Amino acid sequence: MTIVTRFAFSALICCFQGAVSAPNMVLGIPRPMNVQARTFERAVHLAPPGTHDSRYAYVPFDVPQHTARISISYKYERDNGANTIDIGLFDTRSTGSDSDPRGFRGWSGGRRSEFFVSREEATPGYLPGELPAGTWRIILGLYRVAPTGVDVSLKIGIDTEENRSSSPTRVPPKTKMSSARGTPGSVAESGLRQASFPQKVTGHGLRWWLGDLHMHTVHSDGDWTIPGLISSARNNGLDFIFITDHNTASHHTEIDQFRAVSKQPLVLRGEEITTYGGHTNAWGLPSATWIDFRVHPGDIAGMSKIAAQAHRSGALISINHPFASCGGCAWSYDAAARGFDAIEVWNGAWDQTDEQALTMWDKILQSGRHITAIASSDSHRPANPIGQPTTHVAAVELSQRALLDAIRQGRVYLTSEAARPVVSFEAEATTSKSRSRWAVGDEIRLKAPDTIHLFITTEATPPDARISLISNGQVIRNFSPKTDGQQVIEIKCRHDAYFRLEVRDGTKVMLALTNPIYVKIRKHR
Ligand SMILES: [Zn+2]
Ligand SMILES: [Zn+2]
Repeated sequence: MTIVTRFAFSALICCFQGAVSAPNMVLGIPRPMNVQARTFERAVHLAPPGTHDSRYAYVPFDVPQHTARISISYKYERDNGANTIDIGLFDTRSTGSDSDPRGFRGWSGGRRSEFFVSREEATPGYLPGELPAGTWRIILGLYRVAPTGVDVSLKIGIDTEENRSSSPTRVPPKTKMSSARGTPGSVAESGLRQASFPQKVTGHGLRWWLGDLHMHTVHSDGDWTIPGLISSARNNGLDFIFITDHNTASHHTEIDQFRAVSKQPLVLRGEEITTYGGHTNAWGLPSATWIDFRVHPGDIAGMSKIAAQAHRSGALISINHPFASCGGCAWSYDAAARGFDAIEVWNGAWDQTDEQALTMWDKILQSGRHITAIASSDSHRPANPIGQPTTHVAAVELSQRALLDAIRQGRVYLTSEAARPVVSFEAEATTSKSRSRWAVGDEIRLKAPDTIHLFITTEATPPDARISLISNGQVIRNFSPKTDGQQVIEIKCRHDAYFRLEVRDGTKVMLALTNPIYVKIRKHR
């Protein structure tokens, strides 16, 4: 709170208000004839925030009764990239504190220089609905600020319907917070695409579903429309996609409309909670549930609260691209990894930052914790195709609940493309009676040190591909894929261990990666 107050005083806010003539067309939407338009300007000077200062500033403005539309534009000197100021909007329910999530009406980050909200519609990223009279707040996000500070000028347009009776056409948007209960969708398996490779997991009653867990649309900084993503998912052979726009829930309504008429592919709601100290995906949010992103870089307790909020709403949460080189994209909440279900070790085309993420994940495994490795395209536009890479999830059915359960359990492997390579990695233990076959995500419980057999099948690998079997931080076997049939490796397990596979091409670029099969040996007293 004190940080916010200090910051508010550091901002110099000037106001020019009066009879500024407004054009009859704002942001391309014609204005009805009975509407009165008023525009005023604000100027804000933002100093660079100190290490512990809030990274957000709030610019309050008054909204009168009978407001039908609020339009906002802003500009500032970018100074060759030294300044980048994000923007969003809160309504009268907000108190202008970073810790108050009420009244959220949208966020466009640095993507848009103008936006509007009205009762019936809004710029993507923003939530339409009733426009209550009172103090609203523009939120400015201090992504980058030059040492000398930055002057931001804002133009606020208010349209009022003076003769309007009190008959709102839409209730205020209720963005739900963490108390919301999950309402997972369920989709019948009928009419699904027939994959050309083994779909079943031996002895488990599961089959593999192909998906992409991370992508963006015009609701944040992507060029994709939601129909465009859906048709691309179909063309690329994906069974499910999670749409994870940055810091908003405005894409949920459109997803709900699609799900009401079509069940294939399964389109699921997510949010990339985008802080200035790292990004995290929440998958499987109930409709209209928004998770607040205003956590200070390095604030491990704040990030843990985000993970808890996601879990309370029935969603899973993952660490995204922990070593990405863009400003603020790398993970600064290391110890908070305990509350997370997954880690994105593969983001888009394989590169050195993915190698670093892979090392981070393997160290977590070595510490004895189970966390699921996932891959995603993080696609923003068609030039960066969805499904490259693909996450394969072994679940009983194509439903949100089944997919989330399987991801949490680690029943997941990753490939560079949807169709290839194909990997099967299973195990048998001589003495364990509880199951005859084990698959990725399983824990084999042995009563005593024992021999296990690992069964590896790969298809559609290039001639120079090599497979590494990794256990407890070490490569214990390195071999070429067998082109005809299964490879079997015998291992004597004397202590707790995990076993996972990597398939790389001749230049060491990753082609496929499995989650582990775990072995736990009962301790005798
Ligand atoms: Zn990100
Ligand atoms: Zn992203």
